[in-house]
Amino acid sequence: MKGQVALITGASRGIGQAIALRLAAEGVYVVATATTDIGAEATVAAIIAQGGAGKAVKLDVTNSAEVEALFKTITAEHGRLDILVNNAGITKDGLMMRMKDSDWDSVIDTNLKGSFICLREASKIMTKARYGRVVNISSVVGEMGNPGQVNYCASKAGIFGLTKSAARELAKRNITVNAVAPGFIETDMTADLPEKGREALMQNVPMGRFGSIEDIAYAVLFLVSPHAGYITGQVLSVNGGMYM
Ligand code: NAP
Repeated sequence: MKGQVALITGASRGIGQAIALRLAAEGVYVVATATTDIGAEATVAAIIAQGGAGKAVKLDVTNSAEVEALFKTITAEHGRLDILVNNAGITKDGLMMRMKDSDWDSVIDTNLKGSFICLREASKIMTKARYGRVVNISSVVGEMGNPGQVNYCASKAGIFGLTKSAARELAKRNITVNAVAPGFIETDMTADLPEKGREALMQNVPMGRFGSIEDIAYAVLFLVSPHAGYITGQVLSVNGGMYM
């Protein structure tokens, strides 16, 4: 994979940062994004410290003009984009009866529409090159639902439809599009869960532990590698055996 170029959204911390470090360790040049100019700089510093190469970029995935501009820059600077990982995501939890329209809209816009916009722009570059690997990060709760997360679960369920349809559209161009559905992973996103809530969640995880960010990064690495060339439109669940 040496010499390939990857764009990873939401790579300032958590799962996105682990994916960035893992791909860079394989020789991939990583464009790591966050919502601020400096957000992904620590990730890129760590990439360089481990002998890799990459660049930190500001990107709000809900801003299509910003996304389009970044893809133009990548084309101008590298002339290629081999890998896209749509990882940026947010939660705005609350019971449905009290959920504001704005909490619905911001989660759908970031998690689902943001993935669509990046995938649309990436597909233009990848189609010309007749090569591409896309992974969209969904969630176990997109499959099973979760009280207090109608917006988040809808966005993550939408990722499955986006993935499967795009996979069909792009298969003939040698572009694969898959989803990874993590279970409960130790990151900022899950840091606020109260101890009782964590214990209850663990009852449903046969492996009896939260997943690590590296567990997700290795699954993504496989799907974006040349070894996964005949896998497309699939959902890879990485959840310690947690099923409905
Ligand atoms: P996290 O630690 O909260 O990090 C979220 C990342 O998304 C940050 O880099 C953040 O950038 C970025 N981001 C947020 N809004 C954005 C926007 N509008 N445009 C671009 N980037 C944006 O989350 P995480 O736990 O690593 O989760 C990563 C992905 O895995 C998400 O899609 C999440 O839904 C999914 N997931 C997580 C779990 C879990 O248990 N943690 C389980 C299943 C699925 P800033 O630093 O600039 O805010």
